[in-house]
Amino acid sequence: MEEQNYRNKNGTFIKGAVLPESIRNKMSKSHLGIKRPLVGIKIGLALKGKKKSESHRLNMRKANLGKKHSIESRKKMSLSRIGKRTGDKCNFWKGGITPIHTSIRTSLQYKLWRKAIFERDDYTCVWCGAKSSKGNSVMLNADHIKPFAEYPDLRFVLDNGRTLCEPCHKKTDTYAKHAIKKIKLDYEKPTNKTKKSTTSKVRGGKIHTRRGGKTSKENKS
Ligand SMILES: [Zn+2]
Repeated sequence: MEEQNYRNKNGTFIKGAVLPESIRNKMSKSHLGIKRPLVGIKIGLALKGKKKSESHRLNMRKANLGKKHSIESRKKMSLSRIGKRTGDKCNFWKGGITPIHTSIRTSLQYKLWRKAIFERDDYTCVWCGAKSSKGNSVMLNADHIKPFAEYPDLRFVLDNGRTLCEPCHKKTDTYAKHAIKKIKLDYEKPTNKTKKSTTSKVRGGKIHTRRGGKTSKENKS
């Protein structure tokens, strides 16, 4: 009786038929330890677009808990998302309210740049030598030597970054609040001269730092 339910006339299994427990156990045992890399992909394709049950989703969550993607796969994920469900195609799109600098600073490329800076400087502040140790954690920032806002081409250049502890970072002219003040001041100035004045300032700073770092600081403050 049972056989008719899951085998056709030729004796092969009917697609989709539910097999009795005994046969399923046998199959399970014979397949134990065999790697079938395509199966996962096939299951994934079969389930694509279908709503998963609550328990299925819970199990998926448990299986991935605490796992981290490698940088290689993160790069791939980042690249694969280009043009897909991003921007105005995404259902979370709110009309482009995220400023460009925010999306850059949360990007993978930026995170990798920051990590590279920290590793090069051995997670130590290059100004005061502060470093995290047991029981003493130091908040480190990756600072752009030439400002993030003014030099878009140098945002991900390794030589343009340095590790600073937060107190030291706050002392820089380009630290967030200082930079906003500076931009506001520039904005209030007559429009024709603003661009020229900022570039000449930077050029002046460059020359001064070559002659001696301290003088340029004194001039700025
Ligand atoms: Zn420091």
